[in-house]
Amino acid sequence: MSDSHITDSNLNESQQWLTHYDDVHMHVFGKPLRVMDHGQGARIWDIDGNEYLDFLAGIAVNALGYAHPAWVKACSEQAAKVAHVSNYFATKPQIELAQKLIDLADAPQGSHVYFGNSGAEANEAALKLAKLYGHTLPGAKTAVDGKPTRILALTHGFHGRTMGALSATWKPAIRKPFEPLLPDIEFIEANNLEAMHDAFAETGVGIYGKGPVAAVIMELIQGEAGVMPLDADYVRGVRKLCDNHKALLIIDEVQTGMGRTGSWFAFQREDLGGVRPDIVSFAKGVAGGFPMGGIIAFGEELSALFSAGKHGSTFAGNPLGAACALATIDTIEHDGLISNAEQRGEQLRRQVMNCGNSLFTSVRGRGLLNAITLKHPCAHAAMEWALDHGLIINAVAPNALRLAPPLIISEQDVDEAVNILKHIPTDLSND
Ligand SMILES: *Cc1c(COP(=O)(O)O)cnc(C)c1O
Repeated sequence: MSDSHITDSNLNESQQWLTHYDDVHMHVFGKPLRVMDHGQGARIWDIDGNEYLDFLAGIAVNALGYAHPAWVKACSEQAAKVAHVSNYFATKPQIELAQKLIDLADAPQGSHVYFGNSGAEANEAALKLAKLYGHTLPGAKTAVDGKPTRILALTHGFHGRTMGALSATWKPAIRKPFEPLLPDIEFIEANNLEAMHDAFAETGVGIYGKGPVAAVIMELIQGEAGVMPLDADYVRGVRKLCDNHKALLIIDEVQTGMGRTGSWFAFQREDLGGVRPDIVSFAKGVAGGFPMGGIIAFGEELSALFSAGKHGSTFAGNPLGAACALATIDTIEHDGLISNAEQRGEQLRRQVMNCGNSLFTSVRGRGLLNAITLKHPCAHAAMEWALDHGLIINAVAPNALRLAPPLIISEQDVDEAVNILKHIPTDLSND
């Protein structure tokens, strides 16, 4: 029993809890870095009383930082009222939230929302809807004949860890151990329009052609791959190919959405010239720290494919989550946090490039989703050094540090973070 660890007087309190953690949790996440206690704004304290400036925000989740008064009020008032009812019943917050998301996404009349509880679940819903859509395409497999419809995903894409979402997730190390996964998903080289063109060209109803493409699924900035933005020309080109072949475009905005990249959704970026998704998935930041996700299906026809009984989840549209999301969105709107994301992002990228740390080779990203690339692959050691000096960042790749602070971050917070980043030693050991 692990009780013995708690009383081991040679370990400080954090170390005792971490030993206990290890005894009772499966090891999928590796060893936690600290045991956290409480947060306020952009700062969080561990149980030993150390303070950290948080430039990760629970992986792009805590849009309003910690314990934001509007979020705490909405969450506690809703908890005191009703927290969960199941989908045999409706609640006002879930209806208001669905309407709000449709409005924010500029989705056309007849668009509908499906709520889930995480990013992976949002993409499961998107993929299931795409399957139903695929069955309506000419030459598609029905119960007795035709060809299976295909889904095209991108190299380096990340869509979640459940079996469906994992089937569209590129990284072999996390996907391969679970094969065979969903069939008829292909990985096409990101940012290579020729390759996407060729994949569509293989579509054919004849005996030698592959089946029709039901959907392309992609992120506009590949977050887990190291914050890699897709080229605007490429995104527009993929949209056109989807139009020409009647395929859906699923844009995974789980990490880029909810204001983080300087617009409500990354597909609304001006340089994309109005690229429209058919399905957009969202999660992470949407409820400011409450687990929630979902999809918006653009238009009546597509939405209608999810008819009664086709999909569901016990917690879907949970009023507690919906109230947290409404408070998060309302605060982002009224406190101008999207333009703050834009301005603080520019400040951050400029100051990082000018800070004189020769370990840094470039900085990329949009708004408050950014990565610094490193001269040698020491991201893990750099992350640990920053943590020891009071700054939370993330080693998103061996040679890249991700910076994704809460949207409430101030100009002084960015100054402070860069002041720590600039002192990261250049001679750290490689990962
Ligand atoms: C985090 C993430 C997911 C998975 O979300 P979970 O809530 O961890 O299931 C899916 N897609 C993208 C782009 C993500 O960043």
